[in-house]
Amino acid sequence: MLSEVDPSCIACGSKELCFGYLSGGVNIFVPSNLFTVYGFKTRSYVCLNCGFITQYIPKDKLNKLKQRMGEKLKE
Ligand SMILES: [Zn+2]
Repeated sequence: MLSEVDPSCIACGSKELCFGYLSGGVNIFVPSNLFTVYGFKTRSYVCLNCGFITQYIPKDKLNKLKQRMGEKLKE
């Protein structure tokens, strides 16, 4: 499901991307104002044209995060 995210490099616009994960414990996003046990695992891509690396949270996890934030606001 790569269509969930803009399929081109945000630095140079190239569509030659390699998707994957960053390792070494830097691929978990932990919201600072929300208690989560595991955080949200991010996905990454590297642009094969310019080497730019970025991370994003997949749509299903993003929805989960939005849901949690919504619950937080209601408290
Ligand atoms: Zn690029």
